[in-house]
Amino acid sequence: MYFDTAGGPVFRPPSEANSFILRVTQGCSHNACCFCAMYRGVNFRVRPLAEVLSQIEAAKPYAGHIRRIFLADGNALVLATEKLLEILQVLRQTFPRLQRVSCYAGPKDMLKKTPEELVALRDAGLKLVYYGLESGDDLVLSAINKGVSAAQAIEAGQRIVASGIKLSVMVIAGLGGQAYSGRHALYTAQAVNAIQPQMLSALTLMLYRGSPLAEQFEQGKFVALSPAAIMAELYQMLSAVDLPADRYCLFRSTHSSNYVGLAGTLPKDKDRLLRELQAAEVQLRGLRDWDPYNNVE
Ligand code: SF4
Repeated sequence: MYFDTAGGPVFRPPSEANSFILRVTQGCSHNACCFCAMYRGVNFRVRPLAEVLSQIEAAKPYAGHIRRIFLADGNALVLATEKLLEILQVLRQTFPRLQRVSCYAGPKDMLKKTPEELVALRDAGLKLVYYGLESGDDLVLSAINKGVSAAQAIEAGQRIVASGIKLSVMVIAGLGGQAYSGRHALYTAQAVNAIQPQMLSALTLMLYRGSPLAEQFEQGKFVALSPAAIMAELYQMLSAVDLPADRYCLFRSTHSSNYVGLAGTLPKDKDRLLRELQAAEVQLRGLRDWDPYNNVE
């Protein structure tokens, strides 16, 4: 559901397809990751409270149907905690059937919130945060210009989990290219082990024309992984993911960027998922004609 006149592209996670998308910002406050073209050309701004409230007002006639709300755009936690709390309060008052409010969040803004602030946000209705960890490797994080070290990226995720807000972590296979594939797999798994998110999604790197990473690829400075090598990297990553036996982590690799769809829970389904990755790797080995720009044109 979407009620807005702000303009510009609107992105939301696939699992928010039936949610009311409430834009509290436009664009991404970081907007510097070299692989990302989502909000390029969009001047970031925090929407004034009056604009947000008018969007909520426009959705009022549908209040009986709205159970989930996604706070867009790229990083809603950039808002001051007081403003977020005020918005969450209005949402609770306006939508009596509301079950969950969620948002994307970037590590720098997650780290700016104190543990007490995060608990207050949870109590006010923020139930789920989608976090693009991307990698747990310092070299990859630096190469993609994520703006944080691996230690900071891990701490950001841990803070959300500790607050009681559910955390959905996204990682990107192939993000380190051939140069960093092995360490990207290993350190990303170690970051996941340290964070212990409730959800883990593995996407595959897609090159977006005009992005700095695509330019590096075109200049021969970034060597992209083949589909089979992506499977091998994911296999290595998942092999090293080691969550406690009583943990229930929903694992998905079903994004349109993925060559093969994988779904299960960790650690329960790990062996089955590894077998499926192995079979996919064998199957894709013969694929000679592949395009790292796949799916985006
Ligand atoms: S933080 Fe997310 S939306 Fe912003 S530039 Fe990086 S990947 Fe893109």
